[in-house]
Amino acid sequence: MSKSSQLFTQAQAIIPGGVNSPVRAFNGVGGSPLFIQRAEGARIYDVDGNAYIDYVGSWGPMILGHNHPAIKSAVLAAVENGLSFGAPTEIEVIMAQKVQAMVPSMEQIRMVSSGTEATMSAIRLARGYTNRDKILKFEGCYHGHADSLLVKAGSGALTLGQPSSPGIPADFAKHTLTATFNDLASVEALFSEYPEEISCIIVEPVAGNMNCIPPQDGFLQGLRAICDKYNAVLIFDEVMTGFRVATGCAQAHYQVKPDLTTLGKVIGGGMPVGAFGGKLAIMQHIAPTGPVYQAGTLSGNPIAMAAGLAALNEIDKPEVAAQLSASTKQLAEGLKAAAARQNIPLAINYVGGMFGFFFTDQAEITGFEGVFKCDAERFKQFFHLMLAEGVYLAPSAFEAGFLSTAHSSADIEATIVAAERCFAKLA
Ligand code: PLP
Repeated sequence: MSKSSQLFTQAQAIIPGGVNSPVRAFNGVGGSPLFIQRAEGARIYDVDGNAYIDYVGSWGPMILGHNHPAIKSAVLAAVENGLSFGAPTEIEVIMAQKVQAMVPSMEQIRMVSSGTEATMSAIRLARGYTNRDKILKFEGCYHGHADSLLVKAGSGALTLGQPSSPGIPADFAKHTLTATFNDLASVEALFSEYPEEISCIIVEPVAGNMNCIPPQDGFLQGLRAICDKYNAVLIFDEVMTGFRVATGCAQAHYQVKPDLTTLGKVIGGGMPVGAFGGKLAIMQHIAPTGPVYQAGTLSGNPIAMAAGLAALNEIDKPEVAAQLSASTKQLAEGLKAAAARQNIPLAINYVGGMFGFFFTDQAEITGFEGVFKCDAERFKQFFHLMLAEGVYLAPSAFEAGFLSTAHSSADIEATIVAAERCFAKLA
């Protein structure tokens, strides 16, 4: 029995399902999860000494690859000064200035400790600012696990077949309206029904929690126009897309300016960080300036800020976005060609440093319905075949894949060659 399997048995006795976040349990693909000992560059190493080319990247933050030297040394230097003060620090100011410089729509920024906190706080702020209760989200989009956002959600909620969760009072969920991603008519219909009750639209500008679904031309622009028409707040949840789709996030790539933006894991460089920010007039409603309460003992933690700032300083170099896009294209086009050679119907979406592939003969996947028509069984087989080849993919057909600048052209080529062997076995 492998050490991973032994640890999983022990873990299940003491941690629900053996994991501290559900998708890690491999429920979406079957089998038992790998326990990871360390990671470096494009590779993770399990406790049994196996190496894998990693396309999960800690679910997104590892844009520069694992254990990047600049981030590691920034963390080690910060540790020398103490771990947490619960009082303002200079690095919080420098970090906020850095985020603002890279994402100009974020005129003011508040740090939090996770993506869930960022979206939950942004929603509260939008409600407080507009004095309206309802929010509008999209089916299959995931914005963390706050009560009002765990309705028809993607990611782990989809993998477990629980689009929403017991424990959320119907009285809360009734304020969450869900529309169809890439379908402006579904959004307009809800606003026509509740013209003065919807506080905000929250959207992943590239949906990354129902696999990878880019916005169709005009979709994000249309959301902007609808929010302007009905005086609602437009929130881009860039927890996944932030600094990965483009240096200035998806909002720069698609040239649409949201009122509020939420950021997460990426700005911690691997440490627990999130942030929300946006228009000054809205952000002024947050305590202590305004009446909308929001707080966090460890918010702006100095070690996390040091890691995040070091990460952003690197990510801001122009070659990073160019390399991420080129590598993602190499992988996506290579997989597509390999699948075609083996007569395996495969669709691929990619943008910036994120991608998703679908076992389907549909020409294009543009939304939730299309994702569900894909062959999930085939994905499970492929996942395990690739794992045996030393390639670590997200253990669910509903998650996007991520590249880093540490993935070399040779790593990507090796992945494509391995994938072709796996496609041949599926055929
Ligand atoms: N928003 C999006 C788009 C996400 O992908 C996630 C997590 O994957 C979250 C919010 C929640 O972030 P966290 O897991 O840090 O709470």
